[in-house]
Amino acid sequence: MSNRSHDLFEQALGLIPGGVNSPVRAFKAVGGMPLFIARGKGSRVWDVDGREYLDYLGSWGPLILGHAREEIVAALREALEFGTSFGAPTQTEVELAREVVEAVPSVEKVRMVNSGTEATLSALRLARGATGRDLIVKAEGCYHGHVDGLLISAGSGPAAAQTLLVPYNNVSSLQRVFDESGSRIAALILEPVAANMGVVAPAPGYLEAARRITKEQGSLLIFDEVITGFRVAYGGAQERFGVVPDLTTLGKIVGGGLPVGAYGGRADLMDRMAPVGPIYQAGTLSGNPLAMTAGLATLRALKKLNPYARLESLCRRLAEGLSAAARDARVPLTVNRFASMLTPFFNGSAVNDFASASKSDRHSYSVFFHRMLEQGIYLPPAQYEATFLSAAHTVEDVDRTVDAAVHALRELAG
Ligand code: PMP
Repeated sequence: MSNRSHDLFEQALGLIPGGVNSPVRAFKAVGGMPLFIARGKGSRVWDVDGREYLDYLGSWGPLILGHAREEIVAALREALEFGTSFGAPTQTEVELAREVVEAVPSVEKVRMVNSGTEATLSALRLARGATGRDLIVKAEGCYHGHVDGLLISAGSGPAAAQTLLVPYNNVSSLQRVFDESGSRIAALILEPVAANMGVVAPAPGYLEAARRITKEQGSLLIFDEVITGFRVAYGGAQERFGVVPDLTTLGKIVGGGLPVGAYGGRADLMDRMAPVGPIYQAGTLSGNPLAMTAGLATLRALKKLNPYARLESLCRRLAEGLSAAARDARVPLTVNRFASMLTPFFNGSAVNDFASASKSDRHSYSVFFHRMLEQGIYLPPAQYEATFLSAAHTVEDVDRTVDAAVHALRELAG
């Protein structure tokens, strides 16, 4: 059997560290070698050997409308004819900014950048500049990109000393940290629904407590909605929970599958940024016309389609199907679902923070992942990630996935 993915990976290993441009793609967490993807359409992707997969990665979140959706491709084709980058303002970026401001409750002004990492990095810069304080509080298991100080155990060096770590979903720890160091804390940054330790919803009252405590201490609350923005509701988690942060970071869906991030918030805060205020942040390709076009076409299609209720019920069907399959096979599985994302934790107990997520059996996930892949179902290649549904997925897709899971889990149970 030809295996072009294998050949390409061998070449890539000699040219790119670990053969990939983002670590989790290397399949290190599940073993084996990554698939090289040639194309995607709707809920499907095809690898370079022509094999078809039902895709639950959705490019790690951006593709809420599925792959190569017609109106987005058409909008990009048209924009491409006019040139790829000007380094000057364009009408499209104004229109996208208006969509974001109208959609996201906390955002009165927004600045476009090129990735989620750049968005959180810039939001921290703004938080420190605006408050004159040095410390940042982050929750264990939340991921905010590879910013020094937001990845404190992975090569961040001395910057990590300015970050205080709290367990997710734990109000008393949060209160304690702010009681001890509140006057030095510039910001608390949170994923309002965590999706980077697998999917973990906020406990009732947690986001409200985060809002209250930060306000009392004059610290900023940053919701990192890079994943949840335009996914858990059009206006993100802040719309769903009715908790309004000072600053919000966005990425993924806002770029419609092209490289975009954004940070926004109260106008008085955003106006601390250059050229109005003294805090500098810039980008050669920020607001890139193609990226703005893809983002705008995606948001407009989402507004028109309003797929959220359907996505929710489809994802519920998948979660319930996976749970039932695991019960039948007597495999301990906790399926956490929120809106159109879920994680099957190979874990017999509830998962509500990083400590409980970490008790999952990653080996079982790896076996499950490969058995599913063999049946043409492409799940995230690591236990602690989110499985994403798109508006292109159908009930038939979900039912086929559950059937595949029945086989995979039975095999796993031995
Ligand atoms: N914040 C969150 C919540 C994310 O999930 C991610 C990426 N998965 C980032 C920030 C970083 O975004 P990017 O990969 O675009 O730099």
